[in-house]
Amino acid sequence: MKSVSRNARCYVEISRSVIAANYRAVRDAVAPGRATEAHRPPVLQPPGSSEPGVIGVVKADAYGHGAIEVARVLAREGIEWLAVSSVDEGVALRSAGISQRILVMAGVMPWEFEAVREQNLTPVVHSLHELPRFAEARVPRVHLKLDTGMDRLGTLAEASQIAAAIAKTPELTVEGLLSHFASATDFSSNQTPEQIRLFHERAAALRSLGVQPSLMHFASTNAIAYPRPGAWLSLVRPGHAIYGYVSPARGPAPPATFQVQPALQWKTHIVAVKDVPSGARVGYGGSWKAENPTRLAILAAGYADGVPHRLSNKGKVIAGGRLAPIVGTVSMDLTTIDITQSPQLRPGDEVTLLGTEGDVSLDAQQLAKTAGTISYNILCSISARVRRFYTD
Ligand SMILES: *Cc1c(COP(=O)(O)O)cnc(C)c1O
Repeated sequence: MKSVSRNARCYVEISRSVIAANYRAVRDAVAPGRATEAHRPPVLQPPGSSEPGVIGVVKADAYGHGAIEVARVLAREGIEWLAVSSVDEGVALRSAGISQRILVMAGVMPWEFEAVREQNLTPVVHSLHELPRFAEARVPRVHLKLDTGMDRLGTLAEASQIAAAIAKTPELTVEGLLSHFASATDFSSNQTPEQIRLFHERAAALRSLGVQPSLMHFASTNAIAYPRPGAWLSLVRPGHAIYGYVSPARGPAPPATFQVQPALQWKTHIVAVKDVPSGARVGYGGSWKAENPTRLAILAAGYADGVPHRLSNKGKVIAGGRLAPIVGTVSMDLTTIDITQSPQLRPGDEVTLLGTEGDVSLDAQQLAKTAGTISYNILCSISARVRRFYTD
């Protein structure tokens, strides 16, 4: 991915074509022919469905990539479904003219029922008592989430209880049935096959009671990348993969079913360069001490921009085409690096926090590992004051 220098202290540059290519890679991985019976047992194929579709997950401002821009890219690629966490996120997409189906995955608040109907959002229902409330608000369709072992959202009710509750609200269509994996990358545990078994069992029991939602979905990025028998249904729900990431697997995992690349590069600029003598202490707490005369660069990005404070004295950035260590603590608006190895750097020069310069690159997974967190957290923490630029 090539990038041009921008006049912004700290910015990200997001490639629309990489987002589109990542989406196509996932879509093609689950396309008919690829999704063998091993991945999609015929018993769970809802009547009339031909091929697994993709729900593009654009919650949390598309993991920092900009939900509206990403939704537009996916819409141009022909995607039919998007998913967000909240009603607010769904409303923001509608206000931008996005007309795709929008699934609201993380719960509807008591004051949001009207907005769900007015904005034509599709809520995920997590407990049966919500059904009459959606019916009352004249929401036409919902998806019902089963808790198959994540023990977060989703109903634990038996099939008979679910069928009885649905029968009481005939005006409300339960269009979809879904669940969510807790540890899809972990092939050393049986949690995922157990979740799949429970889902199939409950879906079959519901079917025998006449409840047969036309859509079923379970897999997000990791269960698409590392498929398991029965994990791909009529739709899949990737987020992370669209932005170019798949988490590493544990245990005897199959090879990933698709390749993606990071769509976002994160850059900042040098505010000041200075030479300090050996013995100089850098930053709050004086936690880094120069062993030798050192050239420092002070960068226009700090934890208020999303640079993890945990990278203090640990992280690296790419400066002048080579890795340069972060020295001292990351502060709110500034981060100091050691550029003794790149003495040509000057104030105003650009530095890469995430991305590639020549043959050196840093991605969110590497940053996350150093900071003791996960790549999702790194991407979502790039703050609103970091300017977003898009390239085709
Ligand atoms: C975030 C989320 C996804 C997408 O997960 P990725 O790992 O980013 O692909 C799918 N389903 C639900 C319920 C989610 O909350």
